[in-house]
Amino acid sequence: MPLPYPTNPSLKTLPVYQPGRPIEEVARELDLPAESIVKMASNENPLGPSRLALAAMRKTLPSLHLYPDGNAFYVKRKLAEKLAVAPANLIFGNGSNEIIELLGHALLFPGNDSGTPVPEVVVSEYCFAVYPLVTALFGAKLVVVPAKKFGHDLDAMLKAITPATRLVFVANPNNPTGTTVTADELARFIEAVPPQTVLAMDEAYIEFLDGALDLLAQIRDGSRPNLILMRTFSKIYGLAGLRLGYGIAHPDLIVELEKARQPFNINALAQAAALAALDDAAHVEKTRKTNRRGLKFFARAFRQLGLEFIPSFANFILVRVGDGQRVFNEMQKRGIITRPMGGYQLPEWLRISIGTTKQNERCLEALKTVLNPPPPSS
Ligand code: PMP
Repeated sequence: MPLPYPTNPSLKTLPVYQPGRPIEEVARELDLPAESIVKMASNENPLGPSRLALAAMRKTLPSLHLYPDGNAFYVKRKLAEKLAVAPANLIFGNGSNEIIELLGHALLFPGNDSGTPVPEVVVSEYCFAVYPLVTALFGAKLVVVPAKKFGHDLDAMLKAITPATRLVFVANPNNPTGTTVTADELARFIEAVPPQTVLAMDEAYIEFLDGALDLLAQIRDGSRPNLILMRTFSKIYGLAGLRLGYGIAHPDLIVELEKARQPFNINALAQAAALAALDDAAHVEKTRKTNRRGLKFFARAFRQLGLEFIPSFANFILVRVGDGQRVFNEMQKRGIITRPMGGYQLPEWLRISIGTTKQNERCLEALKTVLNPPPPSS
Protein backbone atom coordinates (compact mmCIF):
# COMPACT_ATOMS: atom_id res chain seq x y z
CA MET A 1 0.00 0.00 0.00
CA PRO A 2 1.45 3.40 -0.90
CA LEU A 3 2.02 5.53 2.17
CA PRO A 4 -0.41 8.45 2.49
CA TYR A 5 2.50 10.88 2.98
CA PRO A 6 5.66 11.63 1.04
CA THR A 7 9.00 10.04 1.99
CA ASN A 8 12.50 11.11 0.99
CA PRO A 9 12.55 10.58 -2.80
CA SER A 10 16.10 9.24 -2.52
CA LEU A 11 14.67 6.20 -0.74
CA LYS A 12 12.63 5.14 -3.79
CA THR A 13 15.52 3.42 -5.54
CA LEU A 14 17.65 2.71 -2.49
CA PRO A 15 18.10 -0.98 -1.65
CA VAL A 16 18.02 -2.11 1.98
CA TYR A 17 21.58 -3.06 3.03
CA GLN A 18 22.00 -6.84 3.04
CA PRO A 19 24.26 -7.85 5.91
CA GLY A 20 25.87 -11.26 6.36
CA ARG A 21 23.24 -13.72 7.60
CA PRO A 22 23.18 -14.23 11.37
CA ILE A 23 23.89 -17.75 12.66
CA GLU A 24 20.57 -17.96 14.55
CA GLU A 25 18.55 -17.16 11.44
CA VAL A 26 20.29 -19.80 9.33
CA ALA A 27 20.02 -22.35 12.16
CA ARG A 28 16.27 -21.75 12.36
CA GLU A 29 15.83 -22.00 8.62
CA LEU A 30 17.86 -25.18 8.19
CA ASP A 31 16.77 -26.71 11.49
CA LEU A 32 20.41 -27.18 12.49
CA PRO A 33 21.93 -26.52 15.93
CA ALA A 34 23.48 -23.03 16.03
CA GLU A 35 26.78 -24.52 17.29
CA SER A 36 27.19 -26.46 14.05
CA ILE A 37 27.10 -23.35 11.92
CA VAL A 38 30.14 -21.30 11.02
CA LYS A 39 29.77 -17.68 9.98
CA MET A 40 32.43 -16.50 7.56
CA ALA A 41 30.33 -13.73 6.09
CA SER A 42 30.98 -10.44 7.87
CA ASN A 43 34.76 -10.19 8.35
CA GLU A 44 34.48 -10.68 12.10
CA ASN A 45 37.26 -11.87 14.41
CA PRO A 46 37.10 -15.68 14.61
CA LEU A 47 38.88 -15.65 18.00
CA GLY A 48 36.09 -13.65 19.62
CA PRO A 49 36.54 -10.63 21.86
CA SER A 50 39.54 -10.13 24.14
CA ARG A 51 39.10 -11.72 27.57
CA LEU A 52 40.04 -8.40 29.10
CA ALA A 53 37.16 -6.76 27.23
CA LEU A 54 34.72 -9.40 28.43
CA ALA A 55 35.80 -8.91 32.05
CA ALA A 56 35.49 -5.14 31.75
CA MET A 57 31.95 -5.47 30.38
CA ARG A 58 30.91 -7.77 33.23
CA LYS A 59 32.12 -5.14 35.68
CA THR A 60 30.01 -2.52 33.92
CA LEU A 61 26.74 -4.49 33.96
CA PRO A 62 25.45 -3.22 37.36
CA SER A 63 25.61 0.40 36.21
CA LEU A 64 23.68 -0.05 32.98
CA HIS A 65 20.80 2.01 34.38
CA LEU A 66 23.00 5.06 33.87
CA TYR A 67 23.54 6.83 30.57
CA PRO A 68 27.01 6.34 29.17
CA ASP A 69 29.62 9.08 29.12
CA GLY A 70 28.47 11.06 26.07
CA ASN A 71 32.02 12.06 25.24
CA ALA A 72 33.61 8.66 25.90
CA PHE A 73 36.30 10.54 27.81
CA TYR A 74 38.47 7.62 28.95
CA VAL A 75 38.45 5.67 25.69
CA LYS A 76 39.17 8.85 23.80
CA ARG A 77 42.09 9.69 26.06
CA LYS A 78 43.55 6.21 25.83
CA LEU A 79 43.12 5.92 22.08
CA ALA A 80 44.62 9.38 21.58
CA GLU A 81 47.66 8.29 23.59
CA LYS A 82 48.02 5.10 21.61
CA LEU A 83 47.81 6.92 18.28
CA ALA A 84 49.86 9.89 19.51
CA VAL A 85 47.16 12.36 18.47
CA ALA A 86 45.11 14.76 20.59
CA PRO A 87 41.68 13.76 21.92
CA ALA A 88 40.37 16.64 19.79
CA ASN A 89 41.44 14.66 16.72
CA LEU A 90 39.00 11.86 17.54
CA ILE A 91 35.29 11.19 17.13
CA PHE A 92 33.52 7.95 18.02
CA GLY A 93 30.68 6.41 16.08
CA ASN A 94 28.22 3.56 16.46
CA GLY A 95 30.54 1.53 14.27
CA SER A 96 32.63 3.31 11.68
CA ASN A 97 29.46 3.14 9.60
CA GLU A 98 28.20 6.03 11.68
CA ILE A 99 31.30 8.07 10.88
CA ILE A 100 30.45 7.61 7.18
CA GLU A 101 26.95 8.88 7.91
CA LEU A 102 28.25 11.84 9.92
CA LEU A 103 30.36 12.83 6.91
CA GLY A 104 27.13 12.83 4.91
CA HIS A 105 25.46 15.14 7.47
CA ALA A 106 28.39 17.52 7.55
CA LEU A 107 29.38 17.63 3.89
CA LEU A 108 26.56 16.51 1.62
CA PHE A 109 24.22 19.46 2.03
CA PRO A 110 22.06 20.18 -1.02
CA GLY A 111 23.00 22.35 -3.94
CA ASN A 112 20.89 25.47 -4.51
CA ASP A 113 19.80 27.94 -7.17
CA SER A 114 22.40 30.51 -6.19
CA GLY A 115 25.19 28.49 -7.67
CA THR A 116 26.02 25.74 -5.18
CA PRO A 117 26.09 22.63 -7.34
CA VAL A 118 24.68 19.23 -6.38
CA PRO A 119 27.39 17.64 -4.20
CA GLU A 120 29.37 14.81 -5.73
CA VAL A 121 30.99 11.82 -4.05
CA VAL A 122 33.77 9.92 -5.81
CA VAL A 123 34.16 6.20 -5.11
CA SER A 124 35.76 3.22 -6.80
CA GLU A 125 33.91 0.40 -8.51
CA TYR A 126 33.54 -2.45 -5.95
CA CYS A 127 33.58 0.01 -3.06
CA PHE A 128 32.05 -0.72 0.36
CA ALA A 129 28.25 -0.62 -0.03
CA VAL A 130 27.64 2.01 2.64
CA TYR A 131 29.28 4.84 0.64
CA PRO A 132 26.67 4.72 -2.16
CA LEU A 133 23.90 4.32 0.44
CA VAL A 134 24.90 7.44 2.35
CA THR A 135 25.50 9.37 -0.88
CA ALA A 136 21.98 8.56 -2.10
CA LEU A 137 20.42 9.26 1.28
CA PHE A 138 21.76 12.81 1.28
CA GLY A 139 20.70 13.41 -2.35
CA ALA A 140 24.29 13.68 -3.59
CA LYS A 141 25.59 12.41 -6.92
CA LEU A 142 27.68 9.24 -6.89
CA VAL A 143 30.62 9.15 -9.29
CA VAL A 144 31.92 5.61 -9.67
CA VAL A 145 35.42 5.23 -11.10
CA PRO A 146 36.16 1.89 -12.82
CA ALA A 147 38.47 -0.32 -10.77
CA LYS A 148 41.97 -1.33 -11.87
CA LYS A 149 42.64 -5.02 -11.22
CA PHE A 150 39.70 -4.96 -8.76
CA GLY A 151 41.37 -2.19 -6.72
CA HIS A 152 41.25 1.60 -6.68
CA ASP A 153 42.56 3.45 -9.73
CA LEU A 154 43.72 6.50 -7.82
CA ASP A 155 44.86 8.44 -10.91
CA ALA A 156 41.42 8.01 -12.47
CA MET A 157 39.73 8.91 -9.18
CA LEU A 158 41.74 12.13 -9.07
CA LYS A 159 40.57 13.00 -12.58
CA ALA A 160 36.96 12.40 -11.49
CA ILE A 161 37.17 15.11 -8.83
CA THR A 162 35.38 18.32 -9.84
CA PRO A 163 34.75 21.57 -7.94
CA ALA A 164 31.47 19.93 -6.79
CA THR A 165 33.25 16.92 -5.21
CA ARG A 166 32.82 17.18 -1.46
CA LEU A 167 33.94 13.69 -0.55
CA VAL A 168 36.17 10.90 -1.89
CA PHE A 169 36.19 7.46 -0.27
CA VAL A 170 39.23 5.20 -0.43
CA ALA A 171 39.22 1.96 1.56
CA ASN A 172 42.65 0.58 2.30
CA PRO A 173 42.41 -2.41 2.28
CA ASN A 174 39.17 -2.42 0.33
CA ASN A 175 36.08 -4.43 1.16
CA PRO A 176 34.97 -6.62 -0.65
CA THR A 177 38.07 -7.05 -2.85
CA GLY A 178 40.79 -7.09 -0.17
CA THR A 179 43.01 -4.98 -2.43
CA THR A 180 45.40 -2.32 -1.18
CA VAL A 181 46.85 0.87 -2.64
CA THR A 182 50.62 1.21 -2.50
CA ALA A 183 52.17 3.74 -0.16
CA ASP A 184 53.67 5.70 -3.08
CA GLU A 185 50.41 5.86 -5.01
CA LEU A 186 48.54 6.94 -1.92
CA ALA A 187 51.08 9.60 -0.96
CA ARG A 188 50.81 11.14 -4.44
CA PHE A 189 47.02 10.96 -4.34
CA ILE A 190 46.72 12.69 -0.98
CA GLU A 191 49.01 15.43 -2.15
CA ALA A 192 46.84 16.00 -5.23
CA VAL A 193 43.33 15.93 -3.73
CA PRO A 194 42.21 19.58 -3.72
CA PRO A 195 41.66 21.21 -0.31
CA GLN A 196 37.92 21.72 -0.90
CA THR A 197 37.37 17.94 -1.17
CA VAL A 198 37.43 15.75 1.93
CA LEU A 199 39.33 12.49 1.55
CA ALA A 200 37.84 9.75 3.75
CA MET A 201 40.37 6.97 4.14
CA ASP A 202 38.51 3.91 5.34
CA GLU A 203 41.00 1.95 7.43
CA ALA A 204 38.62 -0.62 8.91
CA TYR A 205 41.14 -3.37 8.09
CA ILE A 206 44.36 -1.38 8.38
CA GLU A 207 45.68 -3.45 11.30
CA PHE A 208 45.86 -6.48 9.01
CA LEU A 209 48.00 -4.64 6.48
CA ASP A 210 51.79 -4.75 6.82
CA GLY A 211 53.69 -1.66 5.76
CA ALA A 212 50.72 0.65 5.26
CA LEU A 213 51.43 4.33 4.73
CA ASP A 214 51.07 5.94 8.16
CA LEU A 215 48.69 8.83 7.62
CA LEU A 216 48.56 9.80 11.28
CA ALA A 217 51.54 12.13 10.84
CA GLN A 218 49.41 14.32 8.57
CA ILE A 219 46.74 14.46 11.26
CA ARG A 220 49.26 15.25 13.99
CA ASP A 221 50.84 18.18 12.19
CA GLY A 222 47.45 19.67 11.32
CA SER A 223 48.48 20.06 7.71
CA ARG A 224 45.44 18.41 6.16
CA PRO A 225 42.01 19.54 7.35
CA ASN A 226 40.49 17.66 4.40
CA LEU A 227 41.66 14.21 5.55
CA ILE A 228 39.78 11.81 7.82
CA LEU A 229 40.84 8.27 8.73
CA MET A 230 38.08 5.88 9.77
CA ARG A 231 38.85 2.85 11.93
CA THR A 232 36.92 0.35 14.00
CA PHE A 233 36.86 -2.02 16.96
CA SER A 234 34.73 -4.44 14.89
CA LYS A 235 37.50 -6.26 13.08
CA ILE A 236 40.88 -6.93 14.68
CA TYR A 237 39.55 -6.12 18.17
CA GLY A 238 36.68 -8.58 17.78
CA LEU A 239 33.95 -6.26 19.10
CA ALA A 240 31.63 -5.98 16.08
CA GLY A 241 28.55 -6.64 18.21
CA LEU A 242 29.21 -3.59 20.37
CA ARG A 243 29.36 -1.14 17.47
CA LEU A 244 32.33 1.13 18.02
CA GLY A 245 34.27 2.92 15.31
CA TYR A 246 36.14 6.18 15.17
CA GLY A 247 37.32 8.96 12.92
CA ILE A 248 40.72 10.66 13.16
CA ALA A 249 40.93 14.13 11.65
CA HIS A 250 41.80 17.78 12.08
CA PRO A 251 39.99 19.21 15.15
CA ASP A 252 38.02 21.66 12.98
CA LEU A 253 36.50 18.83 10.95
CA ILE A 254 35.88 16.82 14.13
CA VAL A 255 33.93 19.74 15.63
CA GLU A 256 31.62 19.81 12.61
CA LEU A 257 31.02 16.05 12.79
CA GLU A 258 30.41 16.26 16.55
CA LYS A 259 27.48 18.61 15.94
CA ALA A 260 25.74 15.92 13.88
CA ARG A 261 26.42 13.11 16.38
CA GLN A 262 23.69 11.79 18.68
CA PRO A 263 24.60 12.45 22.35
CA PHE A 264 24.84 8.85 23.59
CA ASN A 265 25.83 6.98 20.44
CA ILE A 266 28.53 4.96 22.20
CA ASN A 267 27.05 2.66 24.81
CA ALA A 268 28.59 1.99 28.20
CA LEU A 269 29.58 -1.62 27.46
CA ALA A 270 31.33 -0.56 24.28
CA GLN A 271 33.31 2.07 26.16
CA ALA A 272 34.37 -0.36 28.89
CA ALA A 273 35.26 -3.10 26.41
CA ALA A 274 37.24 -0.81 24.11
CA LEU A 275 39.23 0.58 26.98
CA ALA A 276 40.26 -2.94 27.99
CA ALA A 277 40.78 -4.18 24.43
CA LEU A 278 43.31 -1.43 23.82
CA ASP A 279 45.42 -3.05 26.55
CA ASP A 280 45.28 -6.50 25.00
CA ALA A 281 48.11 -6.39 22.48
CA ALA A 282 48.45 -10.19 22.69
CA HIS A 283 44.88 -10.70 21.43
CA VAL A 284 45.48 -8.35 18.51
CA GLU A 285 48.73 -10.09 17.63
CA LYS A 286 47.16 -13.53 17.83
CA THR A 287 44.34 -12.35 15.56
CA ARG A 288 46.83 -11.03 13.04
CA LYS A 289 48.73 -14.34 13.04
CA THR A 290 45.56 -16.42 12.73
CA ASN A 291 44.49 -14.27 9.81
CA ARG A 292 47.84 -14.47 8.04
CA ARG A 293 47.80 -18.25 8.37
CA GLY A 294 44.22 -18.42 7.07
CA LEU A 295 44.92 -16.20 4.07
CA LYS A 296 47.85 -18.43 3.11
CA PHE A 297 45.73 -21.55 3.59
CA PHE A 298 43.01 -20.33 1.23
CA ALA A 299 45.44 -18.92 -1.34
CA ARG A 300 47.25 -22.25 -1.53
CA ALA A 301 44.00 -24.21 -1.70
CA PHE A 302 42.51 -22.01 -4.42
CA ARG A 303 45.70 -22.33 -6.48
CA GLN A 304 45.55 -26.11 -6.16
CA LEU A 305 41.89 -26.10 -7.19
CA GLY A 306 42.58 -23.78 -10.11
CA LEU A 307 40.19 -21.16 -8.72
CA GLU A 308 40.83 -17.52 -9.51
CA PHE A 309 41.13 -15.37 -6.38
CA ILE A 310 42.18 -11.85 -5.50
CA PRO A 311 45.24 -11.71 -3.24
CA SER A 312 43.92 -10.16 -0.05
CA PHE A 313 45.44 -7.78 2.49
CA ALA A 314 42.45 -7.94 4.84
CA ASN A 315 40.65 -10.66 6.83
CA PHE A 316 38.60 -12.07 3.97
CA ILE A 317 39.24 -13.32 0.47
CA LEU A 318 37.33 -13.10 -2.78
CA VAL A 319 37.24 -16.26 -4.90
CA ARG A 320 35.64 -16.90 -8.29
CA VAL A 321 33.32 -19.87 -8.02
CA GLY A 322 31.03 -19.57 -11.06
CA ASP A 323 27.49 -19.08 -9.79
CA GLY A 324 28.20 -17.31 -6.51
CA GLN A 325 24.61 -17.41 -5.29
CA ARG A 326 24.31 -21.16 -5.90
CA VAL A 327 27.62 -21.90 -4.17
CA PHE A 328 26.58 -19.66 -1.26
CA ASN A 329 23.24 -21.51 -0.93
CA GLU A 330 24.82 -24.94 -1.11
CA MET A 331 27.55 -24.09 1.38
CA GLN A 332 24.95 -22.64 3.72
CA LYS A 333 23.07 -25.96 3.65
CA ARG A 334 26.34 -27.47 4.90
CA GLY A 335 26.47 -25.00 7.76
CA ILE A 336 28.97 -22.52 6.30
CA ILE A 337 27.73 -18.96 5.83
CA THR A 338 29.75 -16.94 3.32
CA ARG A 339 28.83 -13.84 1.35
CA PRO A 340 27.58 -13.90 -2.24
CA MET A 341 28.70 -10.86 -4.20
CA GLY A 342 25.81 -10.24 -6.62
CA GLY A 343 25.04 -6.96 -4.86
CA TYR A 344 28.57 -5.80 -5.67
CA GLN A 345 28.20 -6.70 -9.38
CA LEU A 346 30.49 -9.68 -8.82
CA PRO A 347 27.96 -12.52 -9.24
CA GLU A 348 30.64 -15.13 -9.98
CA TRP A 349 32.52 -14.43 -6.78
CA LEU A 350 32.17 -15.43 -3.16
CA ARG A 351 33.67 -13.54 -0.22
CA ILE A 352 34.96 -15.75 2.55
CA SER A 353 35.96 -14.22 5.90
CA ILE A 354 39.04 -15.88 7.33
CA GLY A 355 38.24 -18.16 10.27
CA THR A 356 40.17 -20.34 12.69
CA THR A 357 42.18 -23.23 11.20
CA LYS A 358 39.29 -25.60 11.87
CA GLN A 359 36.71 -23.29 10.34
CA ASN A 360 38.87 -22.68 7.29
CA GLU A 361 39.25 -26.41 6.75
CA ARG A 362 35.51 -27.01 7.08
CA CYS A 363 34.80 -24.17 4.70
CA LEU A 364 37.21 -25.52 2.11
CA GLU A 365 35.75 -29.01 2.33
CA ALA A 366 32.26 -27.62 1.82
CA LEU A 367 33.44 -25.52 -1.11
CA LYS A 368 35.11 -28.51 -2.76
CA THR A 369 31.98 -30.63 -2.33
CA VAL A 370 29.75 -27.94 -3.75
CA LEU A 371 32.01 -27.31 -6.73
CA ASN A 372 32.62 -31.01 -7.43
CA PRO A 373 29.62 -32.90 -6.12
CA PRO A 374 30.25 -36.65 -5.81
CA PRO A 375 28.49 -38.67 -8.51
CA PRO A 376 25.01 -39.78 -7.47
CA SER A 377 25.10 -43.29 -6.03
CA SER A 378 23.06 -45.75 -8.05
N1 PMP B 1 34.31 0.14 6.24
C1 PMP B 1 34.53 -1.03 5.65
C2 PMP B 1 35.42 -1.06 4.46
C3 PMP B 1 33.94 -2.20 6.14
O1 PMP B 1 34.12 -3.36 5.52
C4 PMP B 1 33.12 -2.12 7.29
C5 PMP B 1 32.46 -3.33 7.89
N2 PMP B 1 31.87 -4.19 7.05
C6 PMP B 1 32.92 -0.88 7.85
C7 PMP B 1 33.53 0.24 7.33
C8 PMP B 1 32.01 -0.66 9.02
O2 PMP B 1 32.41 -1.32 10.13
P1 PMP B 1 31.80 -0.97 11.56
O3 PMP B 1 30.60 -0.12 11.35
O4 PMP B 1 31.48 -2.29 12.16
O5 PMP B 1 32.89 -0.24 12.26
